[in-house]
Amino acid sequence: ARRDEVLRARAEIDLAALRANVRVLRERAPGAALMAVVKADGYGHGAIPCARAAVGAGASWLGTATPQEALALRAGAGLPDDVRIMCWLWTPGGPWREAVEARLDVSVSGMWAMAEVTAAARAAGMPARVQLKADTGLGRGGCQPGADWEELVGAALRAEGEGLLRVTGLWSHFARADEPGHPSIAAQLTRFREMTARAEQRGLRPDVRHIANSPATLTLPDAHFDLVRPGIAMYGVSPSPETGTSADFGLRPVMTLAASLALVKQVPGGHGVSYGHHYTTPGETTLGLVPLGYADGVPRHASSTGPVLVDGKWRTVAGRIAMDQFVVDLGGDRPEPGAEAVLFGPGDRGEPTAEDWAQAAGTIAYEIVTRIGSRVPRVYV
Ligand code: PLP
Repeated sequence: ARRDEVLRARAEIDLAALRANVRVLRERAPGAALMAVVKADGYGHGAIPCARAAVGAGASWLGTATPQEALALRAGAGLPDDVRIMCWLWTPGGPWREAVEARLDVSVSGMWAMAEVTAAARAAGMPARVQLKADTGLGRGGCQPGADWEELVGAALRAEGEGLLRVTGLWSHFARADEPGHPSIAAQLTRFREMTARAEQRGLRPDVRHIANSPATLTLPDAHFDLVRPGIAMYGVSPSPETGTSADFGLRPVMTLAASLALVKQVPGGHGVSYGHHYTTPGETTLGLVPLGYADGVPRHASSTGPVLVDGKWRTVAGRIAMDQFVVDLGGDRPEPGAEAVLFGPGDRGEPTAEDWAQAAGTIAYEIVTRIGSRVPRVYV
């Protein structure tokens, strides 16, 4: 990154924290392999550096949504060949032949995808690695139990017989793993056991069966099976307040988002601030200008609520967050222009966390870190 860009604003990525988080997660699921989920550019942290760090700390699989993300890791991350890379978002017309040739594990939820993947394997002249996805109750992707599952398993067995694919995994995803004790969790586990047992009875021999995201990795040993797929927890962020805080699990937030104040100025009382004048200074005060906005992923919904640490104190966003900048009211304090404004980080310097921003914006911390824009340089520390 250019030094001048870094001076404006930066997302510091603490890869030692990420490695420590991977080790914590492996200790939580000692009998299972770990798939580091690095989709969406590693939840905004940078897919390649995070993938490398996770593999260094013991992850043996990487998970992405799109095949393009997975191909980029295979080609550009310099990882050992035996690291398995899985992508789960099937879209028509995807680069499936390249995916087969790159030995990616691709997810198949239905007959359309099955036909496209087997055609890709034929074209590539080598078998596809296919993981069949069961809808055990999420109600999103995945194959419905019953006749649909029977048809899909049957098609997979035939394609295995023709040497077009190998079923490497049977897998599913939770709807409500972040609500400990919710009855849908047990219901999904029961259905997962039934659907995997049925597929195995018919002759499939997957390498791995898996269903656990971060909250299930942290709180549901019964859901670990052969492999766990944590994403958000690896980045040190709690999946939800109901699961617990990251500190409860010994996880450390990996990203710190900071900027340098671009302007510090005195204004009189009664001064309207930013678009729409949603904030009016209560008296004479100092305003600081933070050069980050919603184009950088600072959520506009946190206008008038988002917390920022400046000079050791929490300030609140004053008025509307604009595309590239927002204002904080510094009260009587007068920091130098260039003083650091920390939006979020691990919290141990007194700064807010991504979870605080999620609360301020009425969203989840996943969205806060993932949406930090490409204009903000990632600085690996
Ligand atoms: N597995 C799948 C299929 C996902 O889509 C995701 C992300 O949403 C994960 C695992 C990781 O989830 P989390 O970030 O909650 O650990």
